[in-house]
Amino acid sequence: MLDDVTESTMDDLLATLANVVGDGGMLTGTDVSSRASGIWRSQGIEAEAILRPRTTEEVSRILAICDEAGQPLVAQGGLTGLVEGHITQAGEIVLSLERMNDIEEVNPVERTMTVQAGVVLEAVHNAADEHGLMYPLDIGGRGSCTLGGNIATNAGGNRVIRYGMTRDMVLGVEAVLADGTVVSSMNHMIKNNAGYDLKQLFIGTEGSLGIVTRAVLRLREKPRSQETMLLAVSDFDRVTALLKAMDAGLGGTLSAFEVLWNNFYRLVTTPPATQTPPLPQDYPFYVLIEAMGGDPQADHARIEQVFSEAHESGLIEDAVIATSEAQRRELWAMRDDVEQVHQYKPVFIFDVSLRVSDMDAYVAQVNRGLEATFGEYTNFVFGHIGDGNIHFAVAAGEDDGAQDGVKQAVYQPLKSIGGSVSAEHGVGLDKKKYLNLSRNDEEIALMRTLKRALDPNGILNPGKIFDAAG
Ligand code: ZN
Repeated sequence: MLDDVTESTMDDLLATLANVVGDGGMLTGTDVSSRASGIWRSQGIEAEAILRPRTTEEVSRILAICDEAGQPLVAQGGLTGLVEGHITQAGEIVLSLERMNDIEEVNPVERTMTVQAGVVLEAVHNAADEHGLMYPLDIGGRGSCTLGGNIATNAGGNRVIRYGMTRDMVLGVEAVLADGTVVSSMNHMIKNNAGYDLKQLFIGTEGSLGIVTRAVLRLREKPRSQETMLLAVSDFDRVTALLKAMDAGLGGTLSAFEVLWNNFYRLVTTPPATQTPPLPQDYPFYVLIEAMGGDPQADHARIEQVFSEAHESGLIEDAVIATSEAQRRELWAMRDDVEQVHQYKPVFIFDVSLRVSDMDAYVAQVNRGLEATFGEYTNFVFGHIGDGNIHFAVAAGEDDGAQDGVKQAVYQPLKSIGGSVSAEHGVGLDKKKYLNLSRNDEEIALMRTLKRALDPNGILNPGKIFDAAG
């Protein structure tokens, strides 16, 4: 009896919502379950419906209706997230902004772009490029991730060392609160200290405090030169010395400092990976360096100068400098070929942050922990070392149950060194249990206060990051 009542209530609610979004605006049944629930996930989406509004006004009406009904909603972007921040279950409704994908304006004078949240990152890159400008955020999911998802997760990627994270590239947002209130804060200025910077409530909060529907992005001048090289280094102390030498010598043009530990380098330069090794496979570390400048000839001369100084001071064992655009792309394709880790099943992917000076000892400690728990394991290590961000891909036997033991080995040592369980991927469901290793009780209590103030009925992405009741 009770089930009948619940079912008819859901049917009524869906009928009301279908009216708001109009023809083609609501998907149900196999149109929902036949959609993959994420990158590298074979399961379909489990939810009552996918709503696809076309305007902020429609989003506002959807939220007002769901808030009134206490109906949970989960916003989804391009589904490239890796921490189950977008995962839904039966009884929940998906809000997808995929039909709100307009680029509304590119302003080359003020160097801004105004977009709707469903626009794909690569479309933003292309639109900026047409005006001789650049949107610096660059991540592996560029072909399918959306700006709304980038904003909700404060996406980082390969150029953070130079341009910062998404937070540093967003000037303004329009967001809809849980009760349907539209907060339009479409600031176009770099400097604006008139009270609280409200957009930060929605950047990196994983869709838990409001739904971003539009944004003003900060663009940069497109670099006229792009130098890329791969260097082989014999130990981690030299990696950190090289980071300082490059950053100092390149006069602010260093835009990426990516490190591949030996086993990850072997993985992405050995078949079935398609890249052939640009350098021999037996060095302990490989550093992919990129510099973006404004004067091709002078920039090339400068990077050669810095490179030969580093070589003379014994920091580098071997090197290849890209001499063509094709070679430059090959070096990056090798770094970005993270999918090779899926040769191992199950494999668990991590994204942690810590001081560069702690990194070598930390990696050794994680490996000792994995060995103690599992005996045999493989831990591919790589990351944005210029930003203090390491990724691990760990395989430790065929049992899915290994995941908890692997997480313990990776996360536990971070607490005493003040590291973070999430550098750039967010928390979602995946890291919820470990949030307290990186955030103290007062910090988490303040997060709960904000959640309760903005979403008192708990309808927005419930259960993600932390439990609102706590
Ligand atoms: Zn990354």
